Amino acid sequence: MSPLHHPSDETLLAHAAGALDEAFRVIVAVHIAACAQCRSLVLRAEQVGGEMLDTLAATAMTGDALDRTLARLDEQGPADRPAAPPPDGLPAALAGYTIGRWRSLFPGVALASILPPERGRAGLHLLRLAPGRALGDHGHGGREMSVVIAGAVTDERGTYGPGDVAERDDEAHHAPVVVGGQTCLCLIAVEGRLRFRHWALRLLQPLIGV
Ligand SMILES: [Zn+2]
Repeated sequence: MSPLHHPSDETLLAHAAGALDEAFRVIVAVHIAACAQCRSLVLRAEQVGGEMLDTLAATAMTGDALDRTLARLDEQGPADRPAAPPPDGLPAALAGYTIGRWRSLFPGVALASILPPERGRAGLHLLRLAPGRALGDHGHGGREMSVVIAGAVTDERGTYGPGDVAERDDEAHHAPVVVGGQTCLCLIAVEGRLRFRHWALRLLQPLIGV
């Protein structure tokens, strides 16, 4: 089934332009692998961007500058080696990433970090919630974007299944709850720290690193 919740057009265009933070880029990559509609929008945006770059390069480079640049690219040979396949059951966009150790946040809720939030960079984490569990009511120090990998969660804006993306800004508070009998696995990118309303969750934060 196609996802029902998509990233905003701004986010998709920023993705096509290579302007997204790595953590958010992975979230969008997981979504567009499952969503033909967003995939074609990103592809078109990349083509337009590529044509503009070609035009700029052709006009800006005089004499043999373009030939020399192309020759240098040839010398560098094939780009990166193929990344290691993603760990079992995880999306292809996570190929080459190391998944941190699973840590229990509270009963039924566990988190594994992929990219720690550091030096102003957004953090990227896997979150696993048992049936009936909720991620405590929280807001954000910055932007939060998540995508469901398996199972489903619901909050006041709707129900999110595999491939569905939720984007939140620093103002929004929400408390997603797992629906159905399946464990929910999702990928979450967070700018700044999560701001839990409950004092016990705030106390836990230094331990869990989110
Ligand atoms: Zn989409």
